Amino acid sequence: MKLKIAIQKSGRLSEDSLGLLKECGITFNNSMNKLKAEAKNFPLEVFFLRDDDIPQYVEDGVADIGIVGENVMLEKNKAVNVIDKLGFGKCRLSIAIPKEKKYKSIKDLSGKKIATSYSEILKSFLKKNKVKAEIHEISGSVEIAPGIGLADAICDLVSSGSTLFTNGLKEVEVVLKSEAVLIANKNLDKEKNKIIEKLLFRIQSVRKASKNKYILLNAPNENLKKICSILPGMKSPTILPLAEKGWSSVHSVLKEDDFWEIIEKLKENGAQGILVVPIEKMIV
Ligand code: ATP
Ligand code: ZN
Repeated sequence: MKLKIAIQKSGRLSEDSLGLLKECGITFNNSMNKLKAEAKNFPLEVFFLRDDDIPQYVEDGVADIGIVGENVMLEKNKAVNVIDKLGFGKCRLSIAIPKEKKYKSIKDLSGKKIATSYSEILKSFLKKNKVKAEIHEISGSVEIAPGIGLADAICDLVSSGSTLFTNGLKEVEVVLKSEAVLIANKNLDKEKNKIIEKLLFRIQSVRKASKNKYILLNAPNENLKKICSILPGMKSPTILPLAEKGWSSVHSVLKEDDFWEIIEKLKENGAQGILVVPIEKMIV
């Protein structure tokens, strides 16, 4: 029994999707053809598809699970379960207008023509905000629509905003914040669910590790108590005596979010020789 996973064939999610599987220790035969690949050391078969088709294939059970952007999942609105957020492919679906146009509130979109490839998501966003506007569905190069007189505004994916900028547009509303998610068919049997559980455990270990850093530092013994109270750690920090009298080496794990704040506090309390190293896997 093999679990079938659908991932994007070529595009922004492809590398990270395959990368995640590799970080989970899953390796593939060299005979990776364009359509599918079988894992050597895990009961997994990978299908390479267009991202737009993945929700449908997962709903139908052609694939058991899949990796897609939340934006695609919501737009296609298929009956699938979301099992995890994956932390990559982060972007937002935003409304943008020509930068010289005035904009005060969402009401300014009333009666306007908005070009998008995400008409379903946009429709419900406008409805929720009680704005009546015309949606013009196009499949690509949405950002040029205002420039060629096709629409007054666009609703499209943005990450850095540089595409908007080069097309003379400014972002005025965020419709949705999105990242890659793992979706699953709703009617999987026990055996497949077991394999998913195994995979999920590995994914979560990899993700936890990427969010955390291992920290080593030297501290004067009289400040050890204070320094240990600053460090969160998985349980409590490890303390080893240094060859130099009166000093210890302290090891712990830090979350990336509050990283700089903690480093500053540690320095204020006499920590020296601070080393921060990446963690490959984290099993808790
Ligand atoms: P396909 O050929 O598979 O249909 P595509 O052109 O529709 O590919 P990509 O541009 O590769 O799709 O984007 C895939 C996903 O990557 C998006 O649906 C979105 O979730 C995510 N993404 C992250 N950042 C961006 C961005 N700046 N622009 C577009 N998509 C982004
Ligand atoms: Zn697509």
